[in-house]
Amino acid sequence: MNDCIFCKIVNGEIPSHKVYEDDYVYAFLDITPATKGHTLVIPKKHCEDVFSLDEQLAGKIFESIPKIANAINNVFNPIGLNIVNNNQKPYQVVFHYHIHLIPRYEGDGFEITSKPKTFSNEEMENVRDMIIEGIKKLT
Ligand code: AMP
Ligand code: ZN
Repeated sequence: MNDCIFCKIVNGEIPSHKVYEDDYVYAFLDITPATKGHTLVIPKKHCEDVFSLDEQLAGKIFESIPKIANAINNVFNPIGLNIVNNNQKPYQVVFHYHIHLIPRYEGDGFEITSKPKTFSNEEMENVRDMIIEGIKKLT
């Protein structure tokens, strides 16, 4: 994808603070880090989002995650680490699949909020069955 900023980073057309690279994966510091060590892990091959992510490539991406996460954990000693992946507008801003590794520190101000919902057991069963049916249609 010619106008993709992350493809340009992989190709070296625009600079990045690279922390890791292998045949399939490129990892670099987020330019507007939520916390110290905030890292993005991307496939070298352009892929828009999780819905178009090839399963083999997903395996390659996730294979690299424990290595990079452990490195961040060991060097910065955070109190935790969030893994975030945004898909589609308005959550996704860069349309080249990427995983955020966000180390967490006391009082860092980073927040993932939600308002928990209540579903009856019948509703939960219905939701479960819908997803199971959805998976069956894909296989
Ligand atoms: P999102 O698509 O919402 O998951 O967010 C895209 C992320 O990419 C943001 O956290 C940006 O700070 C980051 N970002 C955008 N451009 C660059 C760049 N040139 N180098 C590093 N990170 C970037
Ligand atoms: Zn791209």
